[in-house]
This record gives sequence, C-alpha cells and structure tokens, in this order.
Amino acid sequence: MSIFDRIASLGHEQVIFCQEPASQYRAILCIHSTRLGPAIGGTRVLRYASEEDALVDALRLSRAMTYKNAAAGLGVGGGKAVILAPEGDFDREKLFRAHGRAIDRLGGRFTTGEDVGTSPADMEFVALETKWVGGRTGRAGGDPSPWTALGVFCGMQAAAHAQWGSRDLRGRSVAIQGLGNVGMALGQHLHEAGARLIVADVNVDRVRRAREAWDATSVEPDAVLAAEADILAPCALGGVLNDESVPRIRAQVVAGAANNQLLDDCHGAMLAGRGIVYAPDYIINAGGVLTAGVGLHGWSLAEVETKVRGIFDTVGEVLALARRDGLPTNQAADRFAEIRLQPSGS
Ligand code: NAD
Repeated sequence: MSIFDRIASLGHEQVIFCQEPASQYRAILCIHSTRLGPAIGGTRVLRYASEEDALVDALRLSRAMTYKNAAAGLGVGGGKAVILAPEGDFDREKLFRAHGRAIDRLGGRFTTGEDVGTSPADMEFVALETKWVGGRTGRAGGDPSPWTALGVFCGMQAAAHAQWGSRDLRGRSVAIQGLGNVGMALGQHLHEAGARLIVADVNVDRVRRAREAWDATSVEPDAVLAAEADILAPCALGGVLNDESVPRIRAQVVAGAANNQLLDDCHGAMLAGRGIVYAPDYIINAGGVLTAGVGLHGWSLAEVETKVRGIFDTVGEVLALARRDGLPTNQAADRFAEIRLQPSGS
C-alpha cells in the first residue's frame, strides 16, 4: 500500500516526518483529527525494526487517540508522535529539545505528553522549546493512575449493572491481573465497596501487600485469567484476551485498565458469544486522560472527578448501544466515538 493510501484508509489529516541529524532526531508526528479540537497524544520512543513499522505504529496509535479522546468527552482531537530511538547512547536533552522545536512549528495543532519510552523529565526538555506539552513533573492533574483506577471502578459498576441488573459490587469476587499503580488503587476501591479480591502479579511483594491489606486470595500470574471470579480486571498487559484465554475465562464481566486488551478485534465477538460483558478498554480506562482537562480547559480537580465518575454512564451507554445494535462491545465503542466525531454529534 502506498503511504498516501495508508493515510487515507485511516483518515489522517496530516503526517509529518521530522529530522535533525545533530540531535539524532528522527520522528513521525501524526495528526489524525482536529475535528473536536487540537490533537493530543503522547510521544513514544522505540527502536523499531523498520521505518515502516514506526509509521504503522504512529498511524494506528494516533487514530486510537482520536477515538479515546472523543469517547472521553475531552473536547480535543487525536494525534501521536513516534521518535525512532537512536542507536546506542544518546543525549536526551538534545533529542527532546529537537522534538520540542518540531512540535512548536505546528503552532498548537498538536500537544504531546509522555508515553512508552518517555518520562516527565523528557517532557521538561520538550517544554524548553514549546508550550504545547503536558505530563510534566508535578504539574496539572498530577499522577493519572488514581484517576484511571477510579474510572475503572465506576465503569466496572456499569458493566456489573449490564450483566446482573445491579451496580453493587458488595460480595462480588474480582480477579485483578497486575497490582501496579492502577491495580493497587483499583483494589482499594473494590475492597472498600465490599468486593472479594483475587490477585496476581509477577512482583511477589505487591501480592503480599494486597493479601495483607484486603485479605485477598492470590493465584499464580498464569492462572488469573481463568480464576473462579465474577469479574476479571486485566491491569497489566495488552493482548491478554485472545484465542487461548477467552475460552478459559470463567468471569461474566471483563473490566480492567490495560490498554489493547483484545489481541484482535475478533476476540470482542468471541467474548460476546460467550455471554461475557466486556467493558471496552479505551472507554473504561479514560480516567487518566481526563486529567488533561486541567491544563487544557482549566478544570478543577472536583470537575475532573465528576468527569471520571461519568465513566459509569459512558460505559453504560456503550454497552446499551452494543445490545441495541447487536454488536460486540468493542465495535460499539468505536461507533460511540464515531457518533461524537460527526459534525452533528454531541
Ligand atoms: P504498572 O507498570 O504500574 O503496573 C503493571 C503491573 O502489572 C506491575 O505490578 C507488574 O509487575 C504487573 N505485571 C506484569 N506482567 C504481569 C503478568 N504477566 N501477570 C501479572 N502481573 C503482571 O502499570 P499501570 O500504570 O498500573 O497500568 C496498568 C495497565 O493500565 C497498563 O496496561 C497501562 O497501559 C494501562 N493504563 C494505565 C493508565 C494509567 O493512568 N497508569 C491509563 C490508561 C491505561
């Protein structure tokens, strides 16, 4: 497929290739859509097998940001930047300042933040060259993880309501895969709501903390997806819902924070076929992204909390759309975002 055909097939507005040899800087900046506002999306630094792989990743990720931001009601568009990691050691200040200059030339059409391979410290270098950067140390909404966890908790209640007719999680068993920043905070919400917790992590110290804090039961990391639980909450890795795992899942609801939980779109249909309610990942894990409203729109933290709690309604709407149109919930999520992206959409 030619580059223009590829861009056209995904509907991108603009794709910019940037380079600055003195800084070892080579990057692809993708603005997928500014229909709802300036494009927002993180900067990823990776060593790609090929330039084509980097382009495909940037195109795919930037489109996903448009959908995620639209569904979250953030009032912004979607974009993403991919920096091709230089060979060997490199000067991060030089690299990220070059990135800042490239972003600055776009005059605010694209604002970035941290992502895989970047840190708040890198964003400080970007900020030396442009104001179009968020995710800096100690700024705006702070650590997004607690907000992500709160949003997942609310979205899980909506999924429970869709499956069992009640949002109450008291007495429900929830298996959490991954006790990191989000998984731990989610576990605390669930514990306080009276849920019984089953936990797994490759980090034994985190498992021990969860057992002590919540009287949780622990299982081996490779057993958690098939745990005897009402709800499965993937909070570790992408691609965990796949040909091998979906037939083994015993939970009737899957609702967790991990990005790209479905290995492939078809696994959404496979879950629906088994009667499992799947809360689509980019809908339920939008709590963190909503903190961008602090810097973008001047939202107070109380306003952020209201929006994050609104994930209960958003997940409910997406699940209702899926039922109404006979769609797997992942496809309903895309349709939900596309409705918001239409000129007449809300
Ligand atoms: P994290 O790195 O803090 O935690 C991940 C946890 O998963 C770690 O404790 C790790 O030991 C554990 N883990 C890794 N492999 C595992 C395995 N095979 N089995 C069980 N546990 C395993 O990450 P996080 O910030 O808590 O994010 C969790 C997920 O949610 C990620 O997929 C992330 O992309 C996604 N997400 C996070 C946010 C956020 O605000 N942090 C927002 C949206 C999406």
